[in-house]
Amino acid sequence: MRTGREFLESLHDGRAVYLDGERVTDVTSHPAFAEPIRQVATMYDLARERWDPDTTTYVEPATGSRTSAMWLIPRSAADLALRRHIHRAWSECSFGVMGRTADSGASILAGFAGTPDVFARGGKQFAENLLRFYSRARDEDLFIPYAVVPPQGDRSKPAHKQREPFLYAGVVRERDDGIVLRGAQMIATSAVMAHYLLVTYITPLVAGDEDYAFCAMIPANAEGLRIYPRRPYSTMATSTYDYPLSSRFDEIDTVVVLKDVFVPWEHVFIYRNVDVVNAQWHDTAAHTLVNFHTLVRFSVKMEFVAGLALKLAELHGIHTLPPVQTQLGAEVALLGAQIDALAHAAQTLPLVRGGVARPNPLYIYAAMNLQRRQAPDLMRTLRELGGGAFIAVPSSDRAFVGVDTAEDMRYFQAGDTPPEKRVKLLKLIWDLVGTEFGGRQLQYDMFYSAAQHVADMRLYRWYDWSRGRAMVDRCLEGY
Ligand SMILES: Cc1cc2nc3c(=O)[nH]c(=O)nc-3n(C[C@H](O)[C@H](O)[C@H](O)COP(=O)(O)OP(=O)(O)OC[C@H]3O[C@@H](n4cnc5c(N)ncnc54)[C@H](O)[C@@H]3O)c2cc1C
Repeated sequence: MRTGREFLESLHDGRAVYLDGERVTDVTSHPAFAEPIRQVATMYDLARERWDPDTTTYVEPATGSRTSAMWLIPRSAADLALRRHIHRAWSECSFGVMGRTADSGASILAGFAGTPDVFARGGKQFAENLLRFYSRARDEDLFIPYAVVPPQGDRSKPAHKQREPFLYAGVVRERDDGIVLRGAQMIATSAVMAHYLLVTYITPLVAGDEDYAFCAMIPANAEGLRIYPRRPYSTMATSTYDYPLSSRFDEIDTVVVLKDVFVPWEHVFIYRNVDVVNAQWHDTAAHTLVNFHTLVRFSVKMEFVAGLALKLAELHGIHTLPPVQTQLGAEVALLGAQIDALAHAAQTLPLVRGGVARPNPLYIYAAMNLQRRQAPDLMRTLRELGGGAFIAVPSSDRAFVGVDTAEDMRYFQAGDTPPEKRVKLLKLIWDLVGTEFGGRQLQYDMFYSAAQHVADMRLYRWYDWSRGRAMVDRCLEGY
């Protein structure tokens, strides 16, 4: 398994990250990226040295080596339990606020590799490419984020009818030794710290979209690959005390532009095949496995939010009031219990297809839907509990040491909590709720996978309507 140092060193590879119109020479030392990257390096060290190997690793039969459970192709509910442990371990490092840690992309690859036949539908060499790459990624513990949604050109039109032929990333040229890709993909979170990017489509393609119908693995330093981060939050954070999340856990969303990027055949898993692109997510375990990760990640974040809500209520003595207790029960505990129950059900009641145990899709999609709908209300609850507290704070931690100001800081005390401790908690909550980092968190929880109508449709498809229909028929026939 990879060490943190190896992870940091692997990012010195000349990747083209552009910030404010200029190329970044070294992402590991640039103030916009250094701290989140350091956090991820620490996670690799924890995975290797601290986490319980019995619950976060397995012995890979192909190599005989202890391997992170994020690479395990699950065959049973017990294997899914192991996967749940590893997702929890990664998520707990950031209190659930980082969504695209290394176990996310690994889940997709494990899902693909469990059913290589799907890729063989386009030619057996593609399945072989996939399995070879999966084995390498697993053995080298690679960090592989993904960009699977095209830019928001005109969503009413298919890929080949957008305003320019390669607005959506597509194959502009075929060569003897591979393909050349041109165009953009919309969001690739964590791309600045990636080893490879998985580029393909999750949005359905249609006949005529053959140029876009590919699935390929692109090294982060590939010639012609340009990575455009949105405004990073750590550079806006004036101190860790004032912005404890923005300053450390901004996983950095990017748009990726492919300026005629050459991809050798060995890194191509699907080529000019609309059916296979559309099938790769749901004819394999990839979609349920990656969303099992997101569900476990959200369950960790839920626990964090529950802790914040309770401590916030305690801070101002309102936790003893029955209306506040019912609010905590109805608006926080209820969602927390539902998310936990759905994660448990998804893990313990898998759908086994072709020897691969998928986390139960019904419970996965029910949880995604619930999370998507409830996330804004959860943030509203924290705002309700806080009232004006998040605003009535000193501008920075320097106020506690200022010669003229230190004495006045006693007005920021509440109950027995000293002012510096109280303001520390308030700033932590505000960073989740009200800062730009907090706004992005909410958008992430709503859109990391899909818009609401897509999430609703998945649930409609997976719910077992037959039992209800039969019961109604029996009722109607009984009188
Ligand atoms: C912070 C963040 C990080 C992300 N990270 C990644 C990542 O790392 N990798 C990745 O691949 N993706 C990532 N995504 C997800 C992805 O890029 C998209 O945002 C997501 O799939 C939703 O698609 P969209 O944004 O194109 O929304 P659209 O599909 O354009 O939908 C936007 C809105 O348009 C309306 N709408 C659109 N189509 C219809 C329709 N057919 N019927 C009814 N209404 C419709 C709805 O109101 C919908 O909410 C991330 C998203 C966010 C917000």
